Amino acid sequence: MQLSEHFTLEEFIASDTARARGISNHPSPEMLERLKRTAAQMEKIRTILGNKPIQVTSGYRGPELNAAVGGVSNSHHAQAHAVDFHCPAFGSPYDVCKAIEAKQKEVKYDQLIHEQRSWVHVSFAPNPRGQALTLTAAGEYVTGIQK
Ligand SMILES: [Zn+2]
Repeated sequence: MQLSEHFTLEEFIASDTARARGISNHPSPEMLERLKRTAAQMEKIRTILGNKPIQVTSGYRGPELNAAVGGVSNSHHAQAHAVDFHCPAFGSPYDVCKAIEAKQKEVKYDQLIHEQRSWVHVSFAPNPRGQALTLTAAGEYVTGIQK
């Protein structure tokens, strides 16, 4: 099922942990509507990244999956507001974060996080704060998009 032109429900709910543990991870109708709004925001990011293919590594985590991966219950992934992704055809996660940060007026993200140099986390909660952070290899959040 398509959530938007370039993003499917399947890639937003896919999870190795869910598969391994037999967790369905299917969203409620309310969460599905949120996922569609999140996918619409991801379309804007895709445009900013030159329409290069985006690889979603983690999108929605339903309550059972979120608990299984040790996620906090108010995680933006559990709220269907967050996406972890790569866009190797555009550049490194750092390059991707810098490009999105530069277009903050077009993509009103709540949090944009450069995660341990390996992927990009972006969330679109209501009343977006426009925070740009880096999660260091030591597991600390620091302000700004840092290498
Ligand atoms: Zn994330």
